[in-house]
Amino acid sequence: MSQVESYQSPLHAQDPEVAGWLQREDRRQSESLTLIASENHCSAAVREACGSRITDKYAEGYPNRRYYAGCEVADGIEELARSRALELFGAEAVNVQPHSGTTANLCALLALAGPGGKIVGMSLKTGGHLSHGHHKSHTGTVFDAAQYGVDDRGLIDLDEVRDVVKQHQPKVLIAGGSSYARKIDYTAFAEIAREHGAYLLADIAHPAGLIAAGVLPSPVGIADVVTMTTHKTLRGPRGGMILAKPDVIKPINSSVFPGGQGGPLVQQIAGKAVAFAEALSPAFKDYQKQVLDNAQYLGECLVEHGLDVVTGGTDNHIVLVDLRKAPMTGAEVEERALAAGLAVNKNAVPGDPRPPMVTSGLRVGTPAITTRGFGRDEVKTVADILGGLVRGEDPEKFRDTVKALCEAHPLP
Ligand SMILES: *Cc1c(COP(=O)(O)O)cnc(C)c1O
Repeated sequence: MSQVESYQSPLHAQDPEVAGWLQREDRRQSESLTLIASENHCSAAVREACGSRITDKYAEGYPNRRYYAGCEVADGIEELARSRALELFGAEAVNVQPHSGTTANLCALLALAGPGGKIVGMSLKTGGHLSHGHHKSHTGTVFDAAQYGVDDRGLIDLDEVRDVVKQHQPKVLIAGGSSYARKIDYTAFAEIAREHGAYLLADIAHPAGLIAAGVLPSPVGIADVVTMTTHKTLRGPRGGMILAKPDVIKPINSSVFPGGQGGPLVQQIAGKAVAFAEALSPAFKDYQKQVLDNAQYLGECLVEHGLDVVTGGTDNHIVLVDLRKAPMTGAEVEERALAAGLAVNKNAVPGDPRPPMVTSGLRVGTPAITTRGFGRDEVKTVADILGGLVRGEDPEKFRDTVKALCEAHPLP
């Protein structure tokens, strides 16, 4: 395939073993469909920036205040990334250096709550993220964390959030999750935080792209701090970012460097700058509208196949399928889907009786297939395949259909 790197590249000549693995990944991505909600396919321009020579450069510090010589280019790149990020989200202050979403959260929480400080977030098993205070994450050991969940319908219950905050009296309340398919009322969260003198941190790692495009309501200007990843719906390079109100940016900057990181990954920051310019284009807004439409339509099609969808549908790019009444576990469907050429992930559903390695759910996302140009027709085919797999049909019988879809919709 044309997307697979040529055998003549310096990497192939020097290290065929690594090149072989990377080529295999090119093939894996182009010959299967990514329905993993946290993944996407960034542009060739983003990949070029991330593979550039600036990876060699140390640039500890911030633009015009570096601890290394020769940082003019790093300064220019970071300034560009910052100004584009501020324009994209309508924010007042930003730190583009976090290596990942988890690092962004850890540094922001340390800045706002301090070591041992109290935090409240959504529990992992109801759709939150590890870095929101789970006991196996540093955020659960460094901080005194309490968690809220979702109600029987799978929705955030603001009364429960208020009760947990009242009881725990945290310094930081976290809003956001990794498998929550509905809108989050950031204004209501901010009120609860304010009533109890807590900061509000909105983690938009998943819906950042939809929010940047104005397809979902933004927490910017409402939350004190907004953390995110740049590689999920935002479709940039792997990395993290923190937006902040001006009164908290200083401690956050110190918490990222020198607190939690050394030299920034300037090549990733260059990739972020490229992705932010892409996200400022009208085409990106159309893309995000299609991501949402595809997810909502996928949910409808799966319901028509007799599957239960948590909360009955979606407001974003995620459809969470509840398999508790289905003849198969999340792990079984994940494995069968892979055999058909679809990458989906098993995911716990609210009230899930099965362990995390098995689960009774499936998290399906539309960002990556929409990047490949999928619309409703193709989404319907994907839903038909998933429906068939859950009913127990042979994965092999879908392989040709998936292959044809992949060939008709190449990677960027
Ligand atoms: C993905 C995610 C993160 C973490 O991102 P990494 O870059 O994998 O560390 C943080 N918070 C939420 C809500 C996420 O979904």
